[in-house]
Amino acid sequence: MNFALKCITRKGVIRGFMVELNDVSVTYSSGVDALEHVSLKINDGDFAFVVGASGAGKSTLIKLLLKEIDATSGTVTVNGYQLNRLKKKKIPELRRTIGIVFQDFRLISSMTVYENIAFVLRVIDSPKKLIRKRVPYVMGLVGLQDKANAYPNELSGGEMQRVAIARALVNDPGLIIADEPTGNIDPELSYEIVDLLKTINMQGTTVLMVTHEHELVRRFGGRIINISAGQVVFDEIVEGTDYEA
Ligand code: ADP
Repeated sequence: MNFALKCITRKGVIRGFMVELNDVSVTYSSGVDALEHVSLKINDGDFAFVVGASGAGKSTLIKLLLKEIDATSGTVTVNGYQLNRLKKKKIPELRRTIGIVFQDFRLISSMTVYENIAFVLRVIDSPKKLIRKRVPYVMGLVGLQDKANAYPNELSGGEMQRVAIARALVNDPGLIIADEPTGNIDPELSYEIVDLLKTINMQGTTVLMVTHEHELVRRFGGRIINISAGQVVFDEIVEGTDYEA
């Protein structure tokens, strides 16, 4: 099935919560309460910024969603998986439903752009025919079709992040988690990266973007979830100053 069509199907039919946290607390073994009584719902098709100062609990939230850590209390559901009950051997299956974009890109330097993206499908034994179709398609989505044979060290920061976004998209995840995706790129290119994530979101993929950059959030607006000292202190839709969705 065509990617865009599938998104429409997902958007139209499987409506529901992509992420649901119910009264979740996380206390690390050191005794630090990183999240306290957090309840949060991210709908299918949402775009949400998660903001908050360093140490507020943003990374802890992401780690919870990927089941890198478990909630000390409360329940977490991601893409239909109830994480509290999820068996260890099912964790890779959960993670394949999530595309992740990191601040430091995490591209493989010895592989070309094409290979970096195709690698995701190769490790899950996707058919060659699908790889040959899907990889050029996502490279086109992020505007990098001309860079297929380039290596990461031949790309700008913005281009590297585009590759990382294409890689996150290639397996057609329902949810993309972008962890400070603009942290290592110039402000003007940062705007383009968020714009790209917004476009992907408009095609049906739910996007959760963690950021420090208040200026970006102000410009784009949308749903803003502010975490402070382990608690959600603000969760509202705010109008952007410079962007019309
Ligand atoms: P943020 O991503 O917003 O900077 P974190 O989720 O990393 O915040 O951290 C939230 C709190 O939990 C902080 O007080 C931090 O020091 C603490 N913390 C994070 N990871 C651990 C850990 N593995 N063990 C103990 N404390 C941790």
